[in-house]
Amino acid sequence: MEDASKLFKKLKIYTLLDLALLLPSSYNDTTLSHHIDIGKTHTFEAKVTQVRSLNGKLLVNFYLQKFDLTLQSMFFRVTPYHYQNFSLGNELIIQGKVELYRDQYQMNQPKSIKQAGKIEAKYKSILKQEELRHLIKSYLSEKALIDVGLLPKEANILMELHYPNSLDKLYTNGTLRQDIADILKFIEAYNHLKKLSSKRVEHLPMQALRGDIEPFVTSLPFELTEEQKSVIAEIQLDLASEKKAAKRMIVGDVGSGKTMVILSAVMMALPQRSILMAPTSLLALQLYEEAQKHLPESVKIALVMQGKEEGEYKTADFIIGTHALLYKEDLPKAPLVMVDEQHRFGTNQRQMLESLSSMTESKETQDRHAHFLQFSATPIPRTQAMMNSALIDVSLITKTPFEKKITTEVIGKADFPRLLNHIKDEIAQGHQVLIVYPLVEESETIEYQSLSESRAFWEKRFENTFVTHGKDKNKEQVLLEFREKGDILLATTVVEVGISLPRLTLIVIVGAERLGLATLHQLRGRVGRLGLDSYCYLFTNSDKSPRLDAFTHTSNGFDIAKLDLKFRDGGDILDGTMQSGQKFKWIDMAEDEDVIRQAQGRIIPNYAIGLQ
Ligand code: ADP
Ligand code: MG
Repeated sequence: MEDASKLFKKLKIYTLLDLALLLPSSYNDTTLSHHIDIGKTHTFEAKVTQVRSLNGKLLVNFYLQKFDLTLQSMFFRVTPYHYQNFSLGNELIIQGKVELYRDQYQMNQPKSIKQAGKIEAKYKSILKQEELRHLIKSYLSEKALIDVGLLPKEANILMELHYPNSLDKLYTNGTLRQDIADILKFIEAYNHLKKLSSKRVEHLPMQALRGDIEPFVTSLPFELTEEQKSVIAEIQLDLASEKKAAKRMIVGDVGSGKTMVILSAVMMALPQRSILMAPTSLLALQLYEEAQKHLPESVKIALVMQGKEEGEYKTADFIIGTHALLYKEDLPKAPLVMVDEQHRFGTNQRQMLESLSSMTESKETQDRHAHFLQFSATPIPRTQAMMNSALIDVSLITKTPFEKKITTEVIGKADFPRLLNHIKDEIAQGHQVLIVYPLVEESETIEYQSLSESRAFWEKRFENTFVTHGKDKNKEQVLLEFREKGDILLATTVVEVGISLPRLTLIVIVGAERLGLATLHQLRGRVGRLGLDSYCYLFTNSDKSPRLDAFTHTSNGFDIAKLDLKFRDGGDILDGTMQSGQKFKWIDMAEDEDVIRQAQGRIIPNYAIGLQ
């Protein structure tokens, strides 16, 4: 037999609980039956009382003493083995499904069993049954399970599942009992959180930051929302720590006011420096303008982008930039590093983010890290946030300061004339329209028009039509021009509209049924930025779609993330930093918030992760 560590690797088993949760897919139960249920599999002690051949088939009568009845069996493919095994007068143990036919008990093609009274687990595995059974036998015990943090009752259930005394205690009508399934959910969550927390590396902070945010907060033209306040309070606790560099992800829908949280953190860092990185120059510029508008005048702000700089970054209190920041060799160190819209950074950029967060002050303090805050506008279900919380602290901002008025409607070809009129209407009011196509060029696999095919149609009818897409090198320029003087923008889904387009009030998403709800939500979020009445048309050739219908009634990103869980298995609403596509066998990410919370409590007692 291969050594255990190799087998564990093959099976991707890293913890004892991973092994314990590799549960049997079925059981070989040779417990003798005490009563007979028609249609169920039974095991009996039986004696052969009659054997007959009929048209190549073998008919055998068994007498069951315990029930004082005779059972008829038929064997279809008969071999010498059958004649020998089922010869007259033989006493044996048989197993098979019992049927009742014209008042006669029957069990066709019963198996002959060597030993009664055993329940043996059967596993679905890439390993041989024997190998897996051996592993489980060598490693799994009630004590070992208790040693990794389970309660005796939980440990006992797991052992019982691998080595049942009676299946009736585990299953009712062939399905696992609910109380047992609940325990398995808990163990699954506990195991996951425990694994993650062991991966979490804590660093000493470069400095505890305790600057006063009041001058900033009181000067704002609005009151911060309750959620903004509570996230800011969490960050204050993070940054004030002398022991632990913050590692937190703040997740809030587009328009939920994350910039105010960023600026508050800058205030906390004062008189020390903060650095903020944004994924595009447009965003960096926008953040720079907002910082200038809202932060006290005494705060020195600098902007660093490729080919454009403002202020003196070497002496600034707050440096805002794109990834151009990473190439500045003389970029000063900062005890607070932030990343905005982290969900828009690509995989290789993520590594750079990591290097930013590990900015250290000097050689002597090499293991001291900057407090690191990431901001994301990809709402994730609370359950998902909780599941990831062992690796990174997560704060959610689930509400926006003001409700956007966006009407969402599913439309088809027949609605096109109406749509065209509506578009003309919006433009006549000085508003702008965005039409999103699935592809740039036409394709045989997609039944919708591409950007290039439709372009002429719009350009002919509307004067100020702009076109851009993901691969367009000039897209930032096009977007800037469109913002100033455009009426209609044609784009693809991949184009990231980084700037806010305040006059954008109507979006058409062509082939909406092909997109995930998270993507639709991101796209819809582009309209109505200034609170203008806005419209989102989901254009589809498909018939009824419950998923799209649900989307038209749901505006909150966190509710949509939950809907997404319902319509598929969660999966790719998450991105790199969060564990993506995590599939759980027992936990239902749409429902099982309580269980996950309990598991968190077991791992880190009294540990509030900011998810009330
Ligand atoms: P996000 O970065 O989360 O997408 P922003 O920070 O850009 O959102 O905020 C969106 C808009 O809401 C901005 O115009 C901002 O000034 C405004 N805003 C932020 N917080 C509040 C608040 N508490 N009350 C009213 N408006 C707010
Ligand atoms: Mg933002």
